[in-house]
Amino acid sequence: RYPVICIDGPSGAGKGTVTWRLAQALGYQLLDSGALYRIVGLKAFEAGLLGADGCQDIDEQAVLTLTQGLDIVFVPNEASGRVDIIVNGDAVGEQVRNETVGGYASKVAVFPKVRQALLTLQQKMASRSGLVADGRDMGTVVFPDADVKVYLTASAKARAERRVTQLLSAGQTADFEAILATIKARDERDENRATAPSKPAKDALLLDSSYLDADSVYAQVKKYCQD
Ligand code: C5P
Repeated sequence: RYPVICIDGPSGAGKGTVTWRLAQALGYQLLDSGALYRIVGLKAFEAGLLGADGCQDIDEQAVLTLTQGLDIVFVPNEASGRVDIIVNGDAVGEQVRNETVGGYASKVAVFPKVRQALLTLQQKMASRSGLVADGRDMGTVVFPDADVKVYLTASAKARAERRVTQLLSAGQTADFEAILATIKARDERDENRATAPSKPAKDALLLDSSYLDADSVYAQVKKYCQD
């Protein structure tokens, strides 16, 4: 079997950057598992399946059927430093990366049947080449036998500050308190769901990036992979 490196943790901790750089350096495929949930969340929203708030009213079977009809391919994009997402032959726009869609993703991510459907798809990716997998349950559920597991975290405040900086540098407006509240709400749902909650695997390296820049995080993870 091919080597698998898992980088789990909450959004904004810097997983995307480390994952991209490792995959580039090692010549491995990149699995952006959050993107899978984002696509399902977005499609479910477009199909009118997501209720106003909470997950109680969502028709799990309908979301499952929709998930089973998705053919998702990741294509590395060097210019953006992450993967482009192709769904059923069509490129998905940047919209899928925004916080609103992140919220949709975390709603559909509570459903065991949806997670099961995506599990198979994710494990298949590791049968073709080495893999760097970015997510919440890569080390605990999807690749329990992975060669390297890292759980990268950071305080909600540090993650919200990063998000504000990102938005401002993209010429957008940003409300720190609103962003912090959204981050906390998504963490809460991801960490407390019954199936595959976001948590470190027992054998994962815990790394807190609150006071680290992207280069130091990458250097530490790379060294850990080599040891
Ligand atoms: O990492 P990203 O922000 O793209 O993930 C979006 C959402 O998808 C997460 O908040 C979580 O609810 C869900 N997710 C998950 N399991 C993963 C990756 C993402 O439940 N492995």
